Amino acid sequence: MSCSAWALTMIGYMIPGDRLIEENKYRCCNHPEKDTKFCPECGKPMWKTIKELPDVENLARELDAACSFTADVNSRDHYEGNMLVTTFYFGFEACESSHYDAAPMLSIPSLEEIEKCKSEVCSWLKAQGVFEDADFDKFGIWTLTIHG
Ligand SMILES: [Zn+2]
Repeated sequence: MSCSAWALTMIGYMIPGDRLIEENKYRCCNHPEKDTKFCPECGKPMWKTIKELPDVENLARELDAACSFTADVNSRDHYEGNMLVTTFYFGFEACESSHYDAAPMLSIPSLEEIEKCKSEVCSWLKAQGVFEDADFDKFGIWTLTIHG
């Protein structure tokens, strides 16, 4: 039996996942779409709505496209009681390591790079409607660990 752990350092904003939940509509069968509540061929509902978190990789692509630097998004899950809670981090990856016995160096970004990250990511999060004023205090250096 082996155990592995790795760490990822991100500089950016932490946003609670519950603000990012979106409602997506899915077809319930593969018969042709009709303007009825239920499918006349199989009787299943035509559509179902599911509340779900957005795909992290899609978010990362969208954020990266909107920023002048290489932006990234990561998420982490943890349990509060029996509730699964997801937290998202928007910014850039500063360092990643799977060597728990080593101390990888984190290059300190310039203040200009940090300011660029802070303002561009903030603008993008505001445009998505998920940024609240209190989130200005949630900009920082985040060390995310995973144990597998
Ligand atoms: Zn059907």
